[in-house]
Amino acid sequence: MDVRVRFAPSPTGRMHVGNFRSALYNYLFARKHGGVFFVRIEDTDRARLVENGIEGILRTLANMGITYDEGPFLREDGTVEQRGSKGPYTQSERLEIYRSHLNQLLEHGEAYPCFCTPERLEELRATQEAAKLPTGYDRHCRDLDRTEAQQRIKAGERVVYRAKMPNDGETQFEDAVRGSVSFKNALLDDYVLLKSDGFPTYHLANVIDDHLMETSHVIRGEEWLSSTPKHVLLYKAFGWNPPQFAHMPLLLNPDRSKLSKRQGDVAVEDYLDNGYLPEALINFVALLGWNPSDEKEVYTLDELTEAFELKDVNSAGAVFNREKLDWLNGKYLRAMPLERLAERARPFFERAGTSTSAFSDEELGRLLSLERERVKTLSELPEAVSFLLADTLEYPTSRLCWKTQPANEAIERLAAVHELLQELDDADFTVESLETRLKALISTHGWGNGDTLWPLRVSLSGREKSPGPFEIMAVLGKLKVMRRLETAIDRLKNA
Ligand code: GLU
Repeated sequence: MDVRVRFAPSPTGRMHVGNFRSALYNYLFARKHGGVFFVRIEDTDRARLVENGIEGILRTLANMGITYDEGPFLREDGTVEQRGSKGPYTQSERLEIYRSHLNQLLEHGEAYPCFCTPERLEELRATQEAAKLPTGYDRHCRDLDRTEAQQRIKAGERVVYRAKMPNDGETQFEDAVRGSVSFKNALLDDYVLLKSDGFPTYHLANVIDDHLMETSHVIRGEEWLSSTPKHVLLYKAFGWNPPQFAHMPLLLNPDRSKLSKRQGDVAVEDYLDNGYLPEALINFVALLGWNPSDEKEVYTLDELTEAFELKDVNSAGAVFNREKLDWLNGKYLRAMPLERLAERARPFFERAGTSTSAFSDEELGRLLSLERERVKTLSELPEAVSFLLADTLEYPTSRLCWKTQPANEAIERLAAVHELLQELDDADFTVESLETRLKALISTHGWGNGDTLWPLRVSLSGREKSPGPFEIMAVLGKLKVMRRLETAIDRLKNA
């Protein structure tokens, strides 16, 4: 079978990590099997649309490096272009297709018009709820006379079209993750296929499109599992074979409640904005519900593609563990070539109001190398290295003294270091050379490491905690180091 899979988001807001996981799994599955991965925009629920929702989805996919073969593509100028022979891939541009397929169902007695007003449906619901009965449509219009129905439609009465569900029996299907699944038909409502605004519901459009777009596998979240019997019955009503279904487990908070917006960030763009790397997020999201047999935790996209199998997807809910994401992100930050890190970090500096334009990628990379072990995200870098970029450092003068060290002693040590450095060239400003020379200075005088290196490190960083003085000096270069030492000595003298 030719693999053709799709990501079918609704443009109702920023992309939830759960939706992104569907995109990723479909992508991996298609790439692994040399198949086609396409994007289809399910925008038939007009009330839930958000402005620029489609562009937002396509941009998120691009930011995450997830490519696709067919569907709506974003042009440079921000407009959308449909590519692929089975398009358009945006459902609001396919209304006639749904309408003509609905007519087939009406002709075969699989669907019927319904004229019930929203008020009647509301009342029905309230009565059912009060009687503690399952809520659902009572099939009031199911057996209306056809001619009468035609006349009412012609007269312009508000109409929706509903699917005729079987009275009894079961609907069964195979799910690649859950095995055989069956639902009692009696629990299925005569749900709406086409709404009064002329737009199809999710179910109708989704099934027609998956058939016409030749979807081989429907890989989606578990929240759609209960809709699947309706879909299976619709395929049958049209006389079509359903695709292979595979429902991915729910995403859970550590307390096992459903992962939702209330618990904080759930949108992919929020993670990117907060300084998580696409490759770390991809790695993390891939492992939410899918576990290859080995213990490996760090995967590139290519390795994921190689390893991904639907049979290794779990049916149990997958816990979204922020600490693991932080851990992975830290790993990727440390493994990245420094110049690349600099490039990726620049927008975060800009946002923090720090200009980095005076530095080349190589120079900025060297600065970042001092702190990247200590941060979890790109967004922490500007603050972490601010002492390297600052023209003047803010710190209490007393911090320059090691423990109970008298100011005079700190001055003496700093002055000796200053004198020694004065003799050096910029080329001597390497970690090893500085370390050797300063350690020799300390031992010649019989000083302690703490009482010399502490004042030195604080004059260079202003901080209680920072990378070591040799590393800082090597990065700052002679000129800045000398200036910082002079400032520290002056401050101590004037204290
Ligand atoms: N439009 C649905 C969504 O937003 C698609 C579900 C499916 O893949 O069938 O997730």
